[in-house]
Amino acid sequence: MNIIFTAAECAPFAKTGGLGDVAAALPKALKKLGHNVKVVIPRYYKIDKNSLEHIPGELIVPMGSLGTLKAGVFKSKIPNSDVEIYFIDYEDFFGRNGLYTDESGYSYQDNDIRFAFLSVATFELCKMLGFNPDIFHANDWHTAAVPVLLKTRYKEFNAKSVLTIHNLQHQGLFDKRVMDILQIPWNHFNPYELEALGGVNLLKGGITFADAITTVSKKYALEIQTPEFGFGLEGHIRAHSYKLYGILNGVDYDEWNPACDKYIAKNYDIGWMEGKKECKKELLEKFGLCGEEKALIGFVGRFAWQKGIELIAQAMEGLLHLDANYVFLGTGEKWAEGFFSDIAGRYPNFRVYVGFSNELAHKIEAGADMFLMPSIFEPCGLNQIYSLRYGTPPIVRATGGLDDTVENYDPFLKKGTGFKFWEASRDALYNTVKWAVDVFYNDKEGFKNIVNEGMRKRFSWERAAKEYLKVYERVLND
Ligand code: ADP
Repeated sequence: MNIIFTAAECAPFAKTGGLGDVAAALPKALKKLGHNVKVVIPRYYKIDKNSLEHIPGELIVPMGSLGTLKAGVFKSKIPNSDVEIYFIDYEDFFGRNGLYTDESGYSYQDNDIRFAFLSVATFELCKMLGFNPDIFHANDWHTAAVPVLLKTRYKEFNAKSVLTIHNLQHQGLFDKRVMDILQIPWNHFNPYELEALGGVNLLKGGITFADAITTVSKKYALEIQTPEFGFGLEGHIRAHSYKLYGILNGVDYDEWNPACDKYIAKNYDIGWMEGKKECKKELLEKFGLCGEEKALIGFVGRFAWQKGIELIAQAMEGLLHLDANYVFLGTGEKWAEGFFSDIAGRYPNFRVYVGFSNELAHKIEAGADMFLMPSIFEPCGLNQIYSLRYGTPPIVRATGGLDDTVENYDPFLKKGTGFKFWEASRDALYNTVKWAVDVFYNDKEGFKNIVNEGMRKRFSWERAAKEYLKVYERVLND
């Protein structure tokens, strides 16, 4: 099968979250299964041109009312694979530090144009390369125009499209000027296809026109059809649920594996766990914390409402009085960066690193005793899966992928892989952390079982890629 995978990010070249991980790992897994897959992303300023191969010539990108623009194209391979990745180079749109926002966290005002450009360029790139995809695989609102274009302006490709929703909160809601830029016929500007609140909702358009829609866990596929998680699109998604599939993300175990992780103090695995103690020691030292026997709870993630940071802030006073140390890593909402930094300055058992550090993320997964992930919603979530592999039982709210991947501890059977709570409240979070800390100190056999059971679990990309292939085959046979 020929597949073109188009996204706003792809690790390690450009990544702000799980989308970047998926855009690298899924194409790699599809390639291993024998398919011809190419990836397209923008050439952001931070991706060094000198590390890429320049494709001679210019890519002509017709942008409707904006005229015809000319872009450069660069090429590379996704590390440890044969998957070709193409970078669309256009200084005015992508020559900036941020992917979506400026330094203050405000979305760029021309994000509609920037990603409409990427969507149109995806088709033009295929023409330039003489590549005839069977499947256009689009991701999130950034490239949600691709399924729309495939059924309107680029019908000649005679291919099928799949749209994956990694996060429904961000939908690409813009002024209707984007219709003329994308040159989508205006008869599609109606509440059943692309229109929302007087503007254009790109994700809604993608949902309407894609031959199949997928989300990144089975639970999230159900949740997005409800008002609590649908962000206003629940009705539209219900109307298209006949083509909706939930496929849990996998994990790149080459990258996230305590037995061979190059970032951690000492490697370890089931049966030879001594290294984990060294990792904890190093983490404590790094953050100036005391107490090698004390429970150490880690957090890695965006400081965003989605990740439950308000709940943590509300429960903070109680958490600080538990017999536990905390290490947080994240960036995002300014209030949270300030709040956590302030707490770190005032309490001896709480530390935070405000910033993005892949190395530190690995060290926390390995060095912590437990991992906190109290998300309000979580389409899939990767960190809790990493923490299972690192023997760092996750404490999670039972939503989306968190619910699908973590089994709540049963103290009678002494089975489970983590600790769960359901209600998005301060008390539920606090009580669950308290329970986990209690098990850590007072139910050592149970805690060991949780660690071992979690470490044995595997969430492979091969399994996920096979499920995606079934979806591709289904739409191709329709
Ligand atoms: P989301 O995609 O919603 O941000 P996921 O759990 O699916 O959440 O994926 C987050 C990915 O980004 C993980 O690989 C995680 O380790 C990484 N990550 C998030 N914040 C940071 C940070 N501050 N430093 C390093 N890695 C981070």
